[in-house]
Amino acid sequence: MNFDQDIFSELRKNVRDFVAQKVEPLALKMDREDYFPEDVFKEMGRMGYLGITIPEEYGGTGLGYIGQAIIEEELGYSSPSLALSYGAHSNLTLDNLFRNGDRMQRERFVPDLCNGNKIGSLGLTEPSSGSDALAMKSSATLSGEYYILNGSKTYITNAPYSDIFLVYARTGDAYTAFIVLSDDEGFSRGKKFDKMGMRGSPTGEIFFDNIKLNRDRVVGEENGGKNIILGGLNSERVILSFIFVGLAKRALTEATQYSIDRKQFGEPLHRFEMIQDKLAMMYTEYRASKLLAYDALSSVENNNMDLKSAASSILYSAIVAERVSREAIQIMGGNGYMKDTGVERFLRDAILGQIGAGTTEIRKKLIASSLIKDFRKGRGIE
Ligand SMILES: Cc1cc2nc3c(=O)[nH]c(=O)nc-3n(C[C@H](O)[C@H](O)[C@H](O)COP(=O)(O)OP(=O)(O)OC[C@H]3O[C@@H](n4cnc5c(N)ncnc54)[C@H](O)[C@@H]3O)c2cc1C
Repeated sequence: MNFDQDIFSELRKNVRDFVAQKVEPLALKMDREDYFPEDVFKEMGRMGYLGITIPEEYGGTGLGYIGQAIIEEELGYSSPSLALSYGAHSNLTLDNLFRNGDRMQRERFVPDLCNGNKIGSLGLTEPSSGSDALAMKSSATLSGEYYILNGSKTYITNAPYSDIFLVYARTGDAYTAFIVLSDDEGFSRGKKFDKMGMRGSPTGEIFFDNIKLNRDRVVGEENGGKNIILGGLNSERVILSFIFVGLAKRALTEATQYSIDRKQFGEPLHRFEMIQDKLAMMYTEYRASKLLAYDALSSVENNNMDLKSAASSILYSAIVAERVSREAIQIMGGNGYMKDTGVERFLRDAILGQIGAGTTEIRKKLIASSLIKDFRKGRGIE
């Protein structure tokens, strides 16, 4: 897999310019005011970023998961929170809906999600079911040609702004994925949460009160929702890793510059061995997390993704992002602790990496059980 093909180098340059011009100037405002720049998000649609994995005939750009990872990495460098909203819209919702939806659903919903006319969310988590997602209580009951949906979802990225929701609910003993629209009768939004980090990426609750859904709102097979949930998780883990790769790069960049500029005891900070130790470890861990994420990405592109490779990619990139941003603050001393410098934002944002889209503990559990299972089958450790 060649990530340096001209088309991807061009995309990276294009996204980097967009981020420098449109995102970076707003990044601190987004954090301070919990401000979601809806106009910039919609512009990302016009730039072809939102529908990057979707074929051109449905309004997408057709550059696959490599393109999506590049966008996440570049957004993560400037605004991890915009990168999170992008990931929830473009990967968790749009790509998932495209992969599992039928032709009518693709024609009706996909183009507007690609061009930014509509914003999307994925609803899995509920107040009483987070890590144990399949313990969800939301349910849909078939009544003639309609499903009647009841329940709620919480911590849903983009929910305060979204028009189209990909929602999972129980259907008897099984699960089914549905498309729910914000103007469906019986749909309502709850509060927007006030978060410690990832501010500017709106997170909210949604409620379903006897929503009547025609059967054409079922995504994939009726009662086949579990496969959709599990089928999307690996690409989701890998793509979201890149937010934290970009974040770690930014924290390291800020700390490196500061260690050159700041003098104490007549010397720039980088001459002190304890600072060198930090810089060397930050660089090494950043590079290792980046290479692990690109390795997992090539498996996604080649359709031979295994669970432990995807889970270890996000496990490590999230841990490294938190460590590197913490060390960046330490290198910058009092300056790093001040909000104006903007580096403490990266630490607060990085912490989400160990909670959202699955926690560190659950990732470790999955990696260990997958390792043992494969090992027992005689598969060697690559
Ligand atoms: C900012 C943000 C955005 C989000 N966006 C979305 C979204 O768009 N869509 C969506 O559906 N969800 C979303 N989520 C929800 C997210 O996926 C869940 O928060 C996550 O899966 C953890 O669930 P929980 O918060 O209920 O924690 P819990 O499952 O209650 O876990 C609490 C603690 O217990 C640990 N734990 C749980 N079970 C085990 C176990 N078996 N072994 C060891 N430790 C365990 C966990 O690791 C964690 O440390 C978002 C969350 C946040 C914070």
